[in-house]
Amino acid sequence: MKSQTRVVVIGGGIAGCSTLYHLTQEGWTDVVLVERNELTSGTTWHSAAQVTNFGATQTMVGLKSHSIKLYKELAEDPEYPINYHHADGGIRLANTERQMEGYRHFASVAKGMGVEFEVIDAEECARRHPLISTDNLLGGLWDPLDGDIDPAQLCQALARRARLAGAEVYRNTPVTGLTQHRDDSWTVHTEHGDIDCEIVVNACGYRVNEVGAMMGVHHPVASMEHQYFLTEPIKAIEEAGFRMPLLRCPISDYYCRQEKNGLLVGFYEQDCKTWGMDGIDPNFVNALCPDDLDRVMDVLEGAFARMPALMDVGIHSVVNGPITYTIDGAPLVGPIPGKRNAFCIIGLRAGLGEGGGHGWLLAQQIVHGEACYDTWVIDPRRFTGHANVELTALKAIEDYQNEFRFHFPHEHRPAGRPAKTTPLTPVLAAEGAEFGTVNGWERVAYIKPTPDFEETHSFRFNETFPVVAREIEAVRTGVGLAEVNGFNRFEITGPGAHDWLDTMVCGRIPRKDGKVGLTYLLNHHGNVKAEATLANLDADTIWYGSAAASESHDMDWLQAHLPKDGSVQLRSLTNDWTILVLAGPKSREVLSGVSRGDWSRAAFPWLSVRRAFVGIAPAVIMSVSYSGELAYEIHVPNNQLYAAWLALRAEGEKHGLTLFGGHAVESMRLEKGYRHWKADLITEFNPIESGLDRFVKLDKPDFIGKAALEKQLAGGLKRRFVTLALDCDHAPAHGGDSILANGRCIGTITSAGWGHRVGKNLAMGFLHPEFAEVGTPLQVEVIGEAVAATVVDPGLYDPENQRIRA
Ligand SMILES: Cc1cc2nc3c(=O)[nH]c(=O)nc-3n(C[C@H](O)[C@H](O)[C@H](O)COP(=O)(O)OP(=O)(O)OC[C@H]3O[C@@H](n4cnc5c(N)ncnc54)[C@H](O)[C@@H]3O)c2cc1C
Repeated sequence: MKSQTRVVVIGGGIAGCSTLYHLTQEGWTDVVLVERNELTSGTTWHSAAQVTNFGATQTMVGLKSHSIKLYKELAEDPEYPINYHHADGGIRLANTERQMEGYRHFASVAKGMGVEFEVIDAEECARRHPLISTDNLLGGLWDPLDGDIDPAQLCQALARRARLAGAEVYRNTPVTGLTQHRDDSWTVHTEHGDIDCEIVVNACGYRVNEVGAMMGVHHPVASMEHQYFLTEPIKAIEEAGFRMPLLRCPISDYYCRQEKNGLLVGFYEQDCKTWGMDGIDPNFVNALCPDDLDRVMDVLEGAFARMPALMDVGIHSVVNGPITYTIDGAPLVGPIPGKRNAFCIIGLRAGLGEGGGHGWLLAQQIVHGEACYDTWVIDPRRFTGHANVELTALKAIEDYQNEFRFHFPHEHRPAGRPAKTTPLTPVLAAEGAEFGTVNGWERVAYIKPTPDFEETHSFRFNETFPVVAREIEAVRTGVGLAEVNGFNRFEITGPGAHDWLDTMVCGRIPRKDGKVGLTYLLNHHGNVKAEATLANLDADTIWYGSAAASESHDMDWLQAHLPKDGSVQLRSLTNDWTILVLAGPKSREVLSGVSRGDWSRAAFPWLSVRRAFVGIAPAVIMSVSYSGELAYEIHVPNNQLYAAWLALRAEGEKHGLTLFGGHAVESMRLEKGYRHWKADLITEFNPIESGLDRFVKLDKPDFIGKAALEKQLAGGLKRRFVTLALDCDHAPAHGGDSILANGRCIGTITSAGWGHRVGKNLAMGFLHPEFAEVGTPLQVEVIGEAVAATVVDPGLYDPENQRIRA
């Protein structure tokens, strides 16, 4: 066994084998995999191993496409062929029009990644899958490349190729401890000796937290028991002459695929069970949980009704094994929050289908610092402090129960809520607030017009349309108040703070006390990494503000680049402060009524910051606006938030103050062309492609990403960011929808919604540069239907910013 290597991957299931193989593909061959037992002896060996291309985001579709391509290539390797039923085809069923609309949207998302799905009716479903009945069926989504693979052969093939490239695999070698050194390198302690390495990767499946504990980390991953059964041969299958397509059913929560000449049917029962919450027997190896088909009776009936052939066939065997979940159902693939040189590829609930792609994206992150796709949807840093195993277990149960029921736009399911609140949460609830969640924080979406108001979540405009319109009108003509909690906020202090920040961002930073500036951080490839509002409070105290979920991500990046001489200090204030946003032409009057001092335009112009009191509550007040109206961000420590709120409410009474929520903000920012981090600002594009030209100062001395950006720009732009106005009013576009020119997909929508002040259906997105001119006629797929669209000026509402500066 080597005593020194570059990377140690811990765990030899699909996650570890794929990572090892892809590291060698990226050119790192001095790498090893350490497995406590035999390869695939965790969950992987008994997986149903279906391999679909379906994903709710382009990153997921793209990584699954990579798996499919790779698995096909492995299967066709004459030296080591493996069993892969490629392209049997698969159907996701639907019995409601809302589900069908979702499928039309997802088909459009896939189109942008070069993947063709088909939305088919019930008769066509039955034609393609002759065993199913069309009762209570409207249709489905057809994935032509759906299939299944032999999981053990797949892992052996990946390990074999990695070994051929120079990697080593140590079986029956349990990792017993991890030590990190001052230079951030690691020693991996195993039962057979130590291995020193630069980087460790946790790929330990359901034992993720045993190895997490060895580095002092608790990963938000929980396991569920999951069962399928295999039937005896079915005559109709034997005689069909082709393989049956796969089925996934959100109506009765089961999946089904052909196994030999019978069926494999797996269940997501309501009466489901977590597993291993209080520790895992060390001897649970190549093992299964006891069968418990009684538990799945509720879903079994639905499967029998859809496939009557199941009623006449015997069950050959049952498999019940642990499957891992995270808080939002997507895995954790990337840097481990708060650690250096440590990565994970964990929480995989569809690891066989996705594993090829996850290992590919992880290896790219390890070797190049970033992957070819923006990996935020699988980034382990997307959750912050609230993300523990208790919460994950609640979300895992909910997710398991809804496995094939995708989330509709603005749908926030109830399990594990509320996780993060402020003193105002119950106050706002009493005011009639409807909440959504942002990184666990309960955020007001809108104020319900009546206590019994209920929203039908759908891909169309719904009952909230007039509610949001009224909130915006009140802000536009008077004054509105909103709580924005969870906003990420770091305090940066020290004599070197400004000079250091200047090297971190691609534009100018505010240098004068009392000034605020919007800035962008690039990665080493010259693409957009983060967006930050920098506020110069006092000499050497800067506030860095960014999106609510960005705390671990941004902290990780900033800390990695802090000067070694101690001249800059960084601390997070995210959990301790909350923003109250006062917006609208009368906001100055309300502020002046609750806070001493001169708040006139001359004394406190746009982009100013000042410490002050709101009533008796200390506050940091900034004249910045995400709504396009005159507005103030009032940052207040949580322990005096209610006091500030009472003062603003009392003063607001005199000026007709109205409460507003996140939906109104979303509409207003679209009209101003303001971007949303990780929707419109992603690591796939540089700031010029992202339309941020005015925030880039290439004449500045060096900053991170400058050389790479200059090199990119010399080669031309591959995309441009635009705003589009759509010619329809029944539904907004949604992130991921395709932009078309003459029927050809030329771009992707990143965010969209109705602009109530300009009266237009707006969308933002990236497209090929030749279509970016204002006035270019295009089409956007809205719920699968191509709708006429025109490229418009990005800031349609008050383009001169007169209202903000008023
Ligand atoms: C019944 C069932 C059906 C499924 N069907 C599908 C499906 O159809 N399609 C699909 O895509 N997915 C499916 N899945 C999920 C899929 O099987 C998993 O996502 C995948 O196998 C997880 O792989 P992994 O490598 O993350 O974990 P594992 O396969 O559990 O691998 C982790 C490895 O780490 C090793 N390890 C742990 N601790 C240590 C240590 N201290 N030192 C060294 N090594 C260690 C373990 O021994 C193990 O080999 C199914 C799961 C179940 C339970």
